[in-house]
Amino acid sequence: MEYKTTKEYAKNLDRKDTLAKYRNQFHIPLQKNGEEYIYFCGNSLGLQPKKTKEYVDQEIIDWANLGVEGHLNAKNPWLPYHEFLSSGYANLLGAKASEVIAMNTLTVNLHLMMISFYNPTKEKFKIIIESDAFPSDIYAVESQIRLHNLDINKSLIKIKPREGETVIRIQDIENLIEKEGDKTTLILLGGVNYYTGQVFEMKKITEQAQKKNIKVGFDLAHAIGNIRLNLHKWGVDFAVWCSYKYLNSGPGSIGGAYIHEKHHSAHLPRLCGWWGHNKDDRFKMPKKFNPIQTAEGWQLSNPPILSLAAIRSSLSIFDEVSMEKLIVKSKNQSKYLRDLLKTINTERIEIITPEDSGCQTSIRVKYGNKLLYEKISEEGIIADWREPDVIRIAPVPLYNSYLDIYKFYKILHKLIK
Ligand SMILES: *Cc1c(COP(=O)(O)O)cnc(C)c1O
Repeated sequence: MEYKTTKEYAKNLDRKDTLAKYRNQFHIPLQKNGEEYIYFCGNSLGLQPKKTKEYVDQEIIDWANLGVEGHLNAKNPWLPYHEFLSSGYANLLGAKASEVIAMNTLTVNLHLMMISFYNPTKEKFKIIIESDAFPSDIYAVESQIRLHNLDINKSLIKIKPREGETVIRIQDIENLIEKEGDKTTLILLGGVNYYTGQVFEMKKITEQAQKKNIKVGFDLAHAIGNIRLNLHKWGVDFAVWCSYKYLNSGPGSIGGAYIHEKHHSAHLPRLCGWWGHNKDDRFKMPKKFNPIQTAEGWQLSNPPILSLAAIRSSLSIFDEVSMEKLIVKSKNQSKYLRDLLKTINTERIEIITPEDSGCQTSIRVKYGNKLLYEKISEEGIIADWREPDVIRIAPVPLYNSYLDIYKFYKILHKLIK
């Protein structure tokens, strides 16, 4: 173990890293003293790719020069602009291009999907969710239940880790599906839990749930651009995501939705808008809504092109590097981080993320208050703190080096000693 705790070892890992060159394609924020921050917050807001400016400028320029004509005559015409993102997204999600659509923001998409996929009846009306799901997801689900005039206490099942444990066992999810399946109509989980970093076994959960005629949706905010996804093959009914975390597409940039093709022409309830209408006669302004028979049919409005441009820039990097290579590096980086952390006093910190998860490692600070987090921040580390006692660290294979991880370890080690 000892040899790993040297700076030379970290530098050597960087020298051997074939993806190391991509760091230079991102803007790394600088401290007041001119040094780069150690940025471990890609799970919250990914860094800006340098070429994103070019992509956004192109649309700014075309807008200046062409005005409304840009819809058809821009270098990248705005009318079909969202279609330029479909294959990139499809690759990341393991979906068909027709199953994905860049639109709205995550929580909005979650609502739109629940309008289509949460159709409670007298017998089958419950939703299963993680007890520590991201609050927005809980608010969304509860408000959907209320929208159907149902009682949240009777309709929402929050699955928890066992007493004394921090992550949910797959066995417990399966048991719950077995026990509550007949009354449950929807299961909604994060692909990766935002707090613990736990990766859910999406394939298994989907299979189990669908045997009980339960619809399955995943919130992929922390999964897309992070772990391998195979939504189509797994038969997942729907998924939603945002593009500003691992996808590096800028603050508040628009998200997306995946809808399995088996639902495209089914007559599901949905909220409609003109951008979801059949492209052939959309501009004839017909009175009757006729949805596009792909995921595009769920669009409401014409999308923000500047945001799509930033996403397009980012997806071009993922296309070039490939998820497979990123995952290999991410696993190596996580393992390196864990090995280093194991040499630190375990009375003070505990890793709560299971091994072999994605980029994120959540570290519980024992008897902790926020002080340790504040101290590492003063030392130039950008991580984040989640109440009551967790520091989340996410080395991102596109722009974090092994040296970043080493420096973090040294600082933490010093502070805990
Ligand atoms: C980041 C995140 C969100 C954020 O939702 P927005 O609608 O994009 O503001 C929602 N859910 C989860 C699980 C997240 O991680």
